[in-house]
Amino acid sequence: MSKTYRNFIAGEWRDAISGETFENRNPANWNEVIGLFPKSGTADVEMAVKAAREGFEGWRLMPAPERGAILKRVGDLMTERKEEIAKNMTREMGKVLAETMGDIQEGIDTAYYAATEGRRMFGHTVPSELPNKFNMSIRVPIGVAGIITPWNFPMAIPTWKIFPALICGNSIVFKPASDTPLTATTFIEIMLEAGIPPKVLNLVHGSGSSVGSPIVNHPDVNLISFTGSSAVGKNLSKEASDTLKRVSLELGGKNAQIVMDDADLDLALEGVLWGAFGTTGQRCTATSRLILHDKVYDKFMDMLVAATKKLRLGDGLKSGVDVGPMVNEGQIETVQKYIKIGQEEGAKLVAGGKPYKEGDCANGWFHEPTILGDVTPEMRVAKEEIFGPVLSVLRINSFEEAIKVLNNTKYGLSSSIYTRDVNQAFKAIRDIEAGITYINGPTIGAEAHMPFGGIKETGNGHREGGWEVYEFYTETKAVFIDYSGKLQRAQIDNY
Ligand code: NAD
Repeated sequence: MSKTYRNFIAGEWRDAISGETFENRNPANWNEVIGLFPKSGTADVEMAVKAAREGFEGWRLMPAPERGAILKRVGDLMTERKEEIAKNMTREMGKVLAETMGDIQEGIDTAYYAATEGRRMFGHTVPSELPNKFNMSIRVPIGVAGIITPWNFPMAIPTWKIFPALICGNSIVFKPASDTPLTATTFIEIMLEAGIPPKVLNLVHGSGSSVGSPIVNHPDVNLISFTGSSAVGKNLSKEASDTLKRVSLELGGKNAQIVMDDADLDLALEGVLWGAFGTTGQRCTATSRLILHDKVYDKFMDMLVAATKKLRLGDGLKSGVDVGPMVNEGQIETVQKYIKIGQEEGAKLVAGGKPYKEGDCANGWFHEPTILGDVTPEMRVAKEEIFGPVLSVLRINSFEEAIKVLNNTKYGLSSSIYTRDVNQAFKAIRDIEAGITYINGPTIGAEAHMPFGGIKETGNGHREGGWEVYEFYTETKAVFIDYSGKLQRAQIDNY
């Protein structure tokens, strides 16, 4: 009998008003049901938003350093329970244990960073143009934050959003992805144990259309922070405009690693294996394209194909496994569709290509790490996000061509170049169209205190992580204090 989990709304753990549930299953063994979760809808969202509005009134008045002390405790509790949460995360979404441990560590780092921001949250003081007058800007909370997240970083991404929102004094309505409801539930439990007041946190499980959309459309939700696909993000942005919400969108990517002819090829090989096949390619920053200099193309391809064939597939909880399953059957279908498209366009299948059902993998959603060679810039597999273990390899003859090929996509999240030439490295930093550029490192590797996000259709200009995110979760208030004892008219009495 599977355990039934609940929403957390208005200070209580509750079933969905519909009374219905959905299943959460292990992608490494689809026969294993992890739990049943509430299938919520508009009425649940309504209750959650009302509670969050009430919770906001007290929370915004708590001194920010005090809010920070609670977040510090959240980080401590996450540290204590790191391995247990990581194991459950691997069970519900598949990536290998080292990676789920890293996912939680990113959350812990974000908790400690946000906690200290409670003692900064700087405004500005500037001189007034009038005598005996004081000018400053301060940061104030906004209200109820709607948080909608994907399944590939079930802890890190919610923490990137929820901790900054909380430290700035906002309350939360959180809709996690339906593939990873267990990690989200544990996360809420930990925050409550650490002392976040109950009505400040509201968790509503369910689908994008029945829970996500009502949050986006609700007039009493003041801002939305969304991470997911560009298609959903664009639609969400339109819906949110009816109530003029502030919206942060972190969307898809088609990230590339350039390997120049002067690169350290062993280092570049390690980078591309980790970038392309880590998290089974299901990262927004995954290396989806390898842009390879003609002079090293054949040699590097031989190294890459040999190393890829050695990667071990299996349940991410088992030691020695390099690549876990994909999250669900739909992801396998998408990958298969793109491999077919690539071959029809003229790309050459040089490794992998099929779902993998051998031995222990018989009941899971496994797919072979796959390499498509001879890809050209106009092919769909060179431009569209696949979100799976598929690497498209393109051949270039010069640095200028490499940059042009890298930029030839509507996305602009992460990028990388391997070269020993410092001049080339700096030109790449200048000319690559992406929010993130790595020199001699793979396309993945975010750090909690660095801004994270992309340009072009990867987002709408906001950043997660780092210092910039705190601006998203606050309004700027301009304050003027006139201590002259008389009416002073700006731009009139002083000119
Ligand atoms: P998705 O867009 O299908 O879903 C993301 C979230 O939005 C889920 O919680 C989903 O239930 C919800 N949702 C779906 N329809 C909705 C609607 N109409 N209204 C409101 N909410 C709705 O994405 P996914 O499959 O969960 O994740 C994969 C995608 O996320 C990829 O495109 C990947 O690149 C992207 N991603 C981006 C980043 C980043 O930081 N840029 C990070 C991770 C993942």
